[in-house]
Amino acid sequence: MRFQFLTLVVGAALILPMAAQNHATSAEVDKVYPDARAVYLDLHEHPELSSHETQTAAKLAGRLRELGYDVTEHVGGTGIVAVMKNGAGPVVMLRTELDALPVEEKTGLPYASKVRTKDDKGQDTAVMHACGHDVHMAALIGTAEIMAQTKNSWHGTLMLIGQPAEETISGAKNMIADGFLKRFPKPDIGVALHVGNELPAGKVGITSGYESSNADSLRVTIYGKGGHGAMPQATVDPIVIAARTILAWQTIPSREVKPGEAVVISVGYIRGGTKNNIIPDQVELGLTVRTYQPQVRKEVLAAIARIAKGEAEAAGAPRAPEINEFESTDAVYNDPALTRRVEGVLQSALGKENVVNVPPTMTSEDYSVFVGQGIPSVYFVLGGADPQRYTEAKASGAKLPSNHSPLFAPDLDPALHTGITAEAAVLRNLLNGTSAATAAK
Ligand SMILES: [Zn+2]
Ligand SMILES: [Zn+2]
Repeated sequence: MRFQFLTLVVGAALILPMAAQNHATSAEVDKVYPDARAVYLDLHEHPELSSHETQTAAKLAGRLRELGYDVTEHVGGTGIVAVMKNGAGPVVMLRTELDALPVEEKTGLPYASKVRTKDDKGQDTAVMHACGHDVHMAALIGTAEIMAQTKNSWHGTLMLIGQPAEETISGAKNMIADGFLKRFPKPDIGVALHVGNELPAGKVGITSGYESSNADSLRVTIYGKGGHGAMPQATVDPIVIAARTILAWQTIPSREVKPGEAVVISVGYIRGGTKNNIIPDQVELGLTVRTYQPQVRKEVLAAIARIAKGEAEAAGAPRAPEINEFESTDAVYNDPALTRRVEGVLQSALGKENVVNVPPTMTSEDYSVFVGQGIPSVYFVLGGADPQRYTEAKASGAKLPSNHSPLFAPDLDPALHTGITAEAAVLRNLLNGTSAATAAK
């Protein structure tokens, strides 16, 4: 890999002495940075909820058109696809999300969001870019500008996509359903990143293989026979069945799955009953189930159903529980060979000490839909924490606000600068066309 990388630098330097040098990238980033920063501040102040990112998408589409990209809007709802064809070579996709969250911003920043809107249920809600998708969009715009201005430093097809509704894990699916793979050149490689406070700004984190988990949302309805709270002998109490079932489920990770495999089964809500002295006739439970391996996922979901049924039968329930899966997404898998290559590029662009290997998380992300469609990808972490606060928190054991917190506020300048530097370096490398990998295509 090292040898290949050296070949790449030498090869690129022959074509373009200036731009292909990594130290030149910093100057290039400085040049586009004010624009990208302005995009960030605007988007941060004007966040939009999932599937309603109309202004956000229009702003990005307008800017990308100005830069010379061929832009298509309304792909899978509010999604955008911007393509720049630049000779022979692979099709490389960079993805950002567009959506914000129903969270009231409490950062106190001068550019904090004050936006309120109606959610899909018609309820008034505050809106905030509490997941940092505004950082991803601003980085993409900065990167888009660099790539458009230095077309002699790369060749192939660059595809930049703005995906709606990541937070409701529906946007990627909707883009595919709207013909993303048929209407546009199919990407040979995909790249995405996510900002977070798990790393200080200036650093990036990378994981080979599983990066995030499979997520399955289940609704389990347990049936009993209602009656008077003082006459349990005349009832079948679904509350007691639910209590036993919940505890029995927790033995799945410890007793049914091979030690070392990560499994999370969380019951996020229990709904049952109306009054303290009435035994209800049903209880509803809401679960999230997280796994990595497909086989483990299958086994865990089967065990959840088997235990629910068994506990109901043991209690003499009048009917078997009903299990509905209402939302699910696959784990994001980072192609190991591609990850090694990108890791080398990031080390060269940011310095070896600024690229760290991070363990996979049990969160989930619908970027996996693109991977599932046969787009080998790498999805990496962009450090967002103020480096000093990060060090202090590490020392004291304090926790910095996580994504989705009303206090989530990335340390903008170093984080965004690093995001653009990383993306431009990775895209240039993948679109270099001189490596064995791309020459083989
Ligand atoms: Zn999020
Ligand atoms: Zn996010």
